[in-house]
Amino acid sequence: MILSKLTSKILNSIQKVIRKKKSTDLVQLHEPFFEDTNCLEYIKDCVESGWVSSAGEWVNKFEEKICMFTGANYAVAVTNGTVGLRLALHSIGVRHGDEVLVPPLSFVATANAVSHLGATPHFIDVENKSLGISAIALEKRLNEIGLKKNGKVFNKETGKRISALVPVHVFGNPADLFSLSKVAKSWGIPIIEDAAEALGSWHKIDNKKIHCGLTGDIGVISFNGNKLITTGGGGILITNNEKFANNLRHLSTTAKLKHQWEFDHDEIAWNDRLPNLNAAMGYAQLEVIENRLLMKRNLFDLYKKYLSNINEIELIESSDNSISNYWLITISLKFDELSRLKKERHELLFEAHNMKLMLRPIWKPLHKLNIYQNSPKGNLTVAENFEYRIINLPSSPQLIL
Ligand SMILES: *Cc1c(COP(=O)(O)O)cnc(C)c1O
Repeated sequence: MILSKLTSKILNSIQKVIRKKKSTDLVQLHEPFFEDTNCLEYIKDCVESGWVSSAGEWVNKFEEKICMFTGANYAVAVTNGTVGLRLALHSIGVRHGDEVLVPPLSFVATANAVSHLGATPHFIDVENKSLGISAIALEKRLNEIGLKKNGKVFNKETGKRISALVPVHVFGNPADLFSLSKVAKSWGIPIIEDAAEALGSWHKIDNKKIHCGLTGDIGVISFNGNKLITTGGGGILITNNEKFANNLRHLSTTAKLKHQWEFDHDEIAWNDRLPNLNAAMGYAQLEVIENRLLMKRNLFDLYKKYLSNINEIELIESSDNSISNYWLITISLKFDELSRLKKERHELLFEAHNMKLMLRPIWKPLHKLNIYQNSPKGNLTVAENFEYRIINLPSSPQLIL
């Protein structure tokens, strides 16, 4: 097959960044990397001591280390990011029958966590720069359909209460929380940040760095197998609010009242706490996180060096007032004609997969999934414009080795 000039140019450039040892080697999008960590030693400690479940000391140590790294006052470890989102949304007051404002460009878990509580995702458009939910689109939509009554916000069209906003830091690029929180505050809508992909991503305000997840009320980070660091499965909630933290901890451990032997529970809650085994793995990787972030930055710089001469694509970069962890390094195809866009995208993905390079397109916009096609939504032109443009490149830190 004769490749289009663009596909060959992109694939040649990627191969200059990723020098495979064997042509048959499979290059995944983001793989775990445990070299030079104490992972095995800490897991051995769990097994030998018998503390493998959620009552062990590594869970507390992991939470403390996350606080130290992110600057959060409190952290609560949970079994995965989806569960973390559901827990945070419930604790902030999202209830059955509510609507929750979410972007359509995200992994399905963002909307699913809303649905798991019996609430409905309400899709708001994204912005070009960060790929995150747009403060302008949010304000416009709220002015269109929002109604304040007794300190609550309702959707005039559906009659349902709008009880939270969930911005997503897409691929580790910080969304514009500064503008978003202004709009949310003016309506009195709480913010749960889906920072699942954003460990090591920061906003820069004046001379300060604020970690993603700490501008809103609660932030959720994931440690799934393909994230920057992984606990096998896992997540953590970060917040600066002590009341929220206590409530999250309580709800994540069956709302059991502290007592040496009695079993008394004051709410119907969940068993969401992260096991010790997983936390030990996470702790070991947090000890080398600065190095991992440096490796990611170097990988990004290499891609930039080899891809910047291709006019038809753009490498997505973080803005001046933020620092991305470059979790998934991303290109955008720049030409306008839809039929050409679809054709080039298909060819690029097809040929890359033939070469065992696992390039990946952005998620199908959530409002186009059958399960969410009837959800309420604003105008989603920008998100839809990205559907066929955005491609993630293999981004494991160890690719620079
Ligand atoms: C990974 C991810 C989640 C879910 O995290 P899990 O730990 O896999 O449950 C949620 N939102 C986004 C944007 C993610 O990338």
